[in-house]
Amino acid sequence: MASARVDLDGNPIKPLTICMIGAGGFIGSHLCEKLMAETQHKVLAVDVYSDKIKHLFEPSSLPWADRIQFHRLNIKNDSRLEGLIRMADLIINLAAICTPADYNTRPLDTIYSNFIDALPIIKYCSENGKRLIHFSTCEVYGKTIGCFLPKDSPLRQDPAYYVLSEDSSPCIFGPIEKQRWSYACAKQLVERLIYAEGAENGLEFTIVRPFNWIGPRMDFIPGIDGPSEGVPRVLACFSNNLLRREPLKLVDGGESQRTFVYIKDAIEAVHLMIENPSRANGQIFNVGNPNNEVTVRQLAEMMTQVYSKVSGEPPLDAPTIDISSKEFYGEGYDDSDKRIPDMTIINRQLGSVLLLEPKDITVGLARVDSYLPTPDVRRSCKEGYLKTGNDLRIVYTINLTVFPVKALVNMLKQDQKRKKVAQRRAKRPVVSCNTLGQL
Ligand code: NAD
Ligand code: UDP
Repeated sequence: MASARVDLDGNPIKPLTICMIGAGGFIGSHLCEKLMAETQHKVLAVDVYSDKIKHLFEPSSLPWADRIQFHRLNIKNDSRLEGLIRMADLIINLAAICTPADYNTRPLDTIYSNFIDALPIIKYCSENGKRLIHFSTCEVYGKTIGCFLPKDSPLRQDPAYYVLSEDSSPCIFGPIEKQRWSYACAKQLVERLIYAEGAENGLEFTIVRPFNWIGPRMDFIPGIDGPSEGVPRVLACFSNNLLRREPLKLVDGGESQRTFVYIKDAIEAVHLMIENPSRANGQIFNVGNPNNEVTVRQLAEMMTQVYSKVSGEPPLDAPTIDISSKEFYGEGYDDSDKRIPDMTIINRQLGSVLLLEPKDITVGLARVDSYLPTPDVRRSCKEGYLKTGNDLRIVYTINLTVFPVKALVNMLKQDQKRKKVAQRRAKRPVVSCNTLGQL
């Protein structure tokens, strides 16, 4: 018989019923996979979409079939939500509008989704004595203190001016007219509310601040598995450009810096939070890899090289192009300059040293396969692992055989044709019933 699983303090882990709201998204889909494959927990998966988790409950013969239920509901207006929360031991809230292009163009939807829609969840958890793991964002830090210093100030090199710590860094947003901050501000107020519920009403909570988690099922390729004119996050934008053989667009020079972490590493940390409540309750956790920093320009260069390697196509003569944020995102965009997580608290509480290991930055980035549009094409990409010394350096050999690349390029060409036809149609004069009668 397999020995019982134990938590970090050696206590046996009891199977939980987890109500996961927003389970059908990028992070939710990976968390559900982990919980089904490696634990005995049950998941009540709540979302309006199920495409990214369908493979976990269809066919019904899957070994964990009795441990996952999908509930298609919109949390904005569905009275079943409270019942599901009451049935669970733990609530994980992932539901949100969280694509930067929406923050300045759909600020109302962004604020309603990230603030107003979270309120009933917090209230039901507090009233029913349920534990809550709430997903916030690294964006609550906004800009670093360092970015306000003169460009040549030596203090800019001092980590005290840029490393982001849960218990000491301020949250610095731009003016109200910079609507980019609608998301961060809504998330921040929810964090304060949850914290206050903990302090005044004893709510057991954990707040997670993800730092640019990347991997399969993130975002969409515009015109393929998302809106043609949509703007996903940077990896999907660059993948889209590469696949269409367009230059990669560097917003405001591509000087902003990000630390990326591969989704499966980050999910390990969330798994520890779920199963170690006494260590995770009352905590706010940064989850990222401080050692994986790149500028957006460097990211573009890496992705260009990796794509060229896997596709066999030479890079364009001018692989990148500069574009202003106003032209790319519209009015009201603003940016976080640099995002390096301080991992002291999570390492102290959960010992998740895993995220601290310096990794070859290409670990996540080489996974162009993550952004391929259809499950068939994605499945045809294989990955290989190579151990170098003590450092698990993962070299993804993306087996992009000739067929999927061609198939993909054809799909993109068809999308372009569809766009042209739609543009031609839009230009044609409208034929009304009256005109038809005259013909
Ligand atoms: P995602 O968009 O892939 O997933 C969010 C899911 O919530 C979607 O499936 C969506 O359908 C669902 N949802 C939204 N509104 C809903 C509603 N009214 N009713 C029911 N379902 C609803 O996003 P993700 O990348 O998986 O992010 C999950 C959480 O983590 C979000 O709160 C996000 O702000 C936070 N986060 C993620 C990252 C990252 O690196 N991916 C970074 C910072 C913060
Ligand atoms: N960005 C870019 N080109 C693109 C898309 C994004 O230069 O095609 C930049 C964006 O301005 C930001 C960074 O890449 O500085 C990361 O953007 P993303 O949308 O991934 O989300 P963020 O990390 O800002 O939440």
